[in-house]
Amino acid sequence: MMTSLEESILLIDGATGTLLERKGVDISLPLWSAHAVIEHPEVLEEVHREYLEAGAGAITTCTFRTNRRALAKAGLADRTEELTRKAVEIAQRARDAVNPEALILGSVAPLEDCYRPDLAPDYETCSIEHGMMIEYLLAGGVDVILIETQNCLRESEAAIGQARKQMPAGGKWMVSYCTKREGAPLVTLAGESLTEYLATLDDAWAIGVNCIAAPSTESQVKLLRSVVPSNVRIAAYANIGYADPMGNWIPTDAVDPERYTNYAAQWIADGATIIGGCCGTRPEMIKAIAEHLHSRVG
Ligand SMILES: [Zn+2]
Repeated sequence: MMTSLEESILLIDGATGTLLERKGVDISLPLWSAHAVIEHPEVLEEVHREYLEAGAGAITTCTFRTNRRALAKAGLADRTEELTRKAVEIAQRARDAVNPEALILGSVAPLEDCYRPDLAPDYETCSIEHGMMIEYLLAGGVDVILIETQNCLRESEAAIGQARKQMPAGGKWMVSYCTKREGAPLVTLAGESLTEYLATLDDAWAIGVNCIAAPSTESQVKLLRSVVPSNVRIAAYANIGYADPMGNWIPTDAVDPERYTNYAAQWIADGATIIGGCCGTRPEMIKAIAEHLHSRVG
């Protein structure tokens, strides 16, 4: 019997925006990381390759801000399908070059500011706009629809509804929430309890938390494992810091790859089987986690 817990752990990539910025790409709002899809596809491909080379078994498309609403703010609304499909192709090129077995996660982000649930549009609008993104991502050939950094129930339910509607039989979708750092109980940034809702999502491939600081993530993973159906994977990919109420970035000790890996090891011990990084993380973190997993197996 060779099946071990370690072998079933999927390592996903770390931050895309952070690495693009390090490589000199303009990531100013409203386009943010979508700048790279338009102006620097070769740099974006390099970012994907670096994560795959570091050991990631899945990479995330740079489609966080290719939705119609974000592009419209830069006068590019009519390029939503083109740029979303292009971002998928860039990820696929990197995958084909480095690890043809790797999964492509199609990122579906909040339509407005990730940390401002009060700005989330009504259900119908969310359903229409996320429906477009999911259609283009699936047409591009992503392996998983990743509805991420969700900050309120309404918007996530609308996106999940579209994933269920459009997904071919057996297709994989996952949802990840940006929860309140204060922890128990499991609540969205909008303050809604996730406990009852998540327990109903037994057709999800995975349910997770992301974009909260690494030291705050353990409590959320434990809560997830206690409410998410047992057949559904738990995902965790954290930030190395957090934004304070004034909007200033406060780094934590997770800025160090070894420290980040220690946090990730704890999430695994708590039941997470999909692990990666969010804002501020780099290929060094993914490499350190890959080495940690390898040493546990070997
Ligand atoms: Zn993040």
